[in-house]
Amino acid sequence: DAPSLDPAGATPMMAQYIEIKAANPDCLLFYRMGDFYELFFADAETASRALGIVLTKRGRHAGAEIPMCGVPVERADDYLSRLIALGHRVAVCEQTEDPAEAKRRGPKSVVRREVVRLVTSGTITEDRLLDPARANLLLAVGRRKVAEGAFAYGLAAIDISTGRFSLSEVPASELSGAIARHDPREIVLSEVIVSDPALARLWQDAKAALVPMAQGELEPAAAERRIREQFGVSTLEGFGSFTRAEIAAAGTGLLYIARTQLSARAPLSVPTREESGATLSIDAATRANLELTRTLSGERAGSLLATIDRTVTANGARLLAEHLAGPLTDLAAIARRHDAVARLADDSALRRAVRDALARAPDLARALSRVGLGRAGPRDLAAIRDGLGAAADLSALLAAADTLPDDLARIGADLVLADPALAGTLAAALAEELPLSRRDGGFVRPGYHAEIDEARGLGQDSRKVIAALQARYAEETGCRTLRIKHNNLLGFFIEVPQSVGEACLKGLQREFVHRQTMVDAMRFTSVELGELERKISGASDRALALEAAVFDDLAGRVLAQAEAVAATAEALAALDVFASHAELAVELDWRRPLVDESLSFRVVGGRHPVVEAALRRAGEPFIANDCDLSGEGRGRIRLITGPNMGGKSTFLRQNALIAMLAQMGAFVPAAEARIGRVDRLFSRVGAADDLARGQSTFMVEMVETAAILNQATRRSLVILDEIGRGTATFDGLSIAWACLEHLHESNACRALFATHFHELTALGDRLARLDNATLKVAEHRDGVVFLHEVVPGVADRSYGLQVARLAGLPGGVVARAGTILKSLEKTKGGRPARALIDDLPLFAALSPPPPPEPPPEDKLGALIDTIDPDALTPREALEALYRLKRER
Ligand code: ADP
Repeated sequence: DAPSLDPAGATPMMAQYIEIKAANPDCLLFYRMGDFYELFFADAETASRALGIVLTKRGRHAGAEIPMCGVPVERADDYLSRLIALGHRVAVCEQTEDPAEAKRRGPKSVVRREVVRLVTSGTITEDRLLDPARANLLLAVGRRKVAEGAFAYGLAAIDISTGRFSLSEVPASELSGAIARHDPREIVLSEVIVSDPALARLWQDAKAALVPMAQGELEPAAAERRIREQFGVSTLEGFGSFTRAEIAAAGTGLLYIARTQLSARAPLSVPTREESGATLSIDAATRANLELTRTLSGERAGSLLATIDRTVTANGARLLAEHLAGPLTDLAAIARRHDAVARLADDSALRRAVRDALARAPDLARALSRVGLGRAGPRDLAAIRDGLGAAADLSALLAAADTLPDDLARIGADLVLADPALAGTLAAALAEELPLSRRDGGFVRPGYHAEIDEARGLGQDSRKVIAALQARYAEETGCRTLRIKHNNLLGFFIEVPQSVGEACLKGLQREFVHRQTMVDAMRFTSVELGELERKISGASDRALALEAAVFDDLAGRVLAQAEAVAATAEALAALDVFASHAELAVELDWRRPLVDESLSFRVVGGRHPVVEAALRRAGEPFIANDCDLSGEGRGRIRLITGPNMGGKSTFLRQNALIAMLAQMGAFVPAAEARIGRVDRLFSRVGAADDLARGQSTFMVEMVETAAILNQATRRSLVILDEIGRGTATFDGLSIAWACLEHLHESNACRALFATHFHELTALGDRLARLDNATLKVAEHRDGVVFLHEVVPGVADRSYGLQVARLAGLPGGVVARAGTILKSLEKTKGGRPARALIDDLPLFAALSPPPPPEPPPEDKLGALIDTIDPDALTPREALEALYRLKRER
């Protein structure tokens, strides 16, 4: 931590800076000075490094120069977003009085300044700082004791950019999965929870900024009071019942928001509570492995989300991501979603009309939130006008369609919850072209407000008056080149070029007051001009003030209907998601799945959406595969062997993805699918190295496998790929074997188990529900062709050598491996490898290595070898150096 600065001996301004900085030690302080935000001391050094801006100096403090850098106010958003992306928090400190006011107090007084807001990654609201397609969640965590040393965790997911506020509680074992599901930008929680050693790894893994709060501030009573105050209620009962952990989380979140927003109260919707088990539980590793919202390398492109996203609004894109992160478990809700998608998939005309109208709807939710925070501009009001307009059109479209399923009917009603007069007023009040900031004025439509029109008219009239005045002055002074101009210093003034004639000059000096002589011009003012100036600036000030009042009035009208507008925004998003699924289904021939209470899992002609899309781009076909894990008999667990590159991983993942897609309410990439509701999805796929965490691949693999074996229920779906690969053959085989038995006997879940240990296929004889499948391969003379077709049975060989050849391993190495393999196979189970090594002639004996290349001549090296540093005088050393330099 930087040492705090001593205000003693500082200039008055620096003393003010130091005081404000001391109150915000963990933030970079943006200190407003005129048109710049300035940073000083260590902040300046940090920011100049992070932003690549010039570090300068300003005055001295405690005997040393003060480092400084600055960012122009009008470009501050750019810089803010970069700093936030790097994990910084920024305190924005504004001048909160007119500098003239400060001067009046005394020559030495400093303009009053206050921090008006802390900008942190989890609490931003500006479009320019936000990713339109991603929710910007702040996650607050609280907990309650459920047994000695055991806790349940409350989560408050808050997006102040849209007002979303939901609460849930999870057991400790599901905490990391729940955090991964929310994918927050910032996590706020008690320092006690942060420092719980049992959770250390979890916080380390969360890809969000952690904000610990002092436990003393988070008393349960205070938490409840904060929620009541936020929503202006005297009891929380009206919202439903919440656990103590949920209330603790909500209180923590609200405290942090109050602290970052300072003056403004965030317009949050009342908290909704999510029942535990309402969504398909998926742990963090599985989410990452399945590349749901981003690929293993961290990009959105190539993820399942990017592949299925056909939404046309930002709001819809965010909801789609939310649905994908939390597929449902409630059968009725799932079926309702499928009904809605089916209706839009079947009716192309309706779907097209809906998507066209949606595409015109701006981001209503975020605009509304900015209005609530008092941070809106005229364009936000326009967004609400246009959003409500599009919603009304959509509602009419839906009303005209017959036999609407429940969800679409509900959407149709929600789209017109807001009083239509609101959209009407906004349309009447807002001009065609809108400035970014309300301070600029000019956003009120002519004809909406008589006094504004009058004040503006005065301004326009004055322009005519000035033109007339200029003509008259030119006439009177005989000076044709005379112009009336304006600047902030002189107001209106008369300007003539220096080259003007003697006679003119006389006339000018007689009539007007000389004010300035420039290199090539002279400037005068007149009493008349001064009066005009007062009148015009008075009129424009008045127009601006009136416009500001209109803005506040409009914002007030929007907020009076905030709940209805928010519901409309949600309805737009939901409609966009349904239309997106429908569009995708038609485009790629995806079908409606059946999700029911059974324990079946039957997919006919299933495909992997992302692999298929990649192959399609390359013009290659994807081979569809069936998968049946239904019933109590054989096949609940399928053991898959087959060559590397045969398509095992693809097959495993595609079935997990199909289950997820089905339960999130989408259609699926299969000809037919019946999925008995899955409660939890587990996967252990691939071997993502985890060097950053200092854990070996094998350790990670075992941790993830342990979680699966401990938690999978009969309703779960488990996919395991290459368990035991990370260790020696016999260790690995034994572990894979034991895991398979455990899944079969104890978990009794539906599972796909891919392995390269062919020995395991023999277990099919002993384990009643285990079945073997393999990926078909066509062999011909010079190699193999992978058919990517899953068929019953056992792979006869692993084709490792063929793959090695395809990969371009030198021919000699492949041939040699073939020889070794033959011998190994012959001696299988018999002699130890040691004997084999003694028997087989060495590689070198078969193909002698090429003679080593002679090393390049190294003159410099030879010279250095002749030098004995201990034996040299300083002078000789210097000479040696010169010699070396010459040789170079
Ligand atoms: P394995 O896990 O058996 O090593 P993968 O599942 O990684 O094999 O598949 C290897 C490659 O084979 C994939 O990248 C893909 O290009 C192709 N592939 C896999 N499954 C199919 C399929 N069903 N149809 C067409 N190509 C496939």
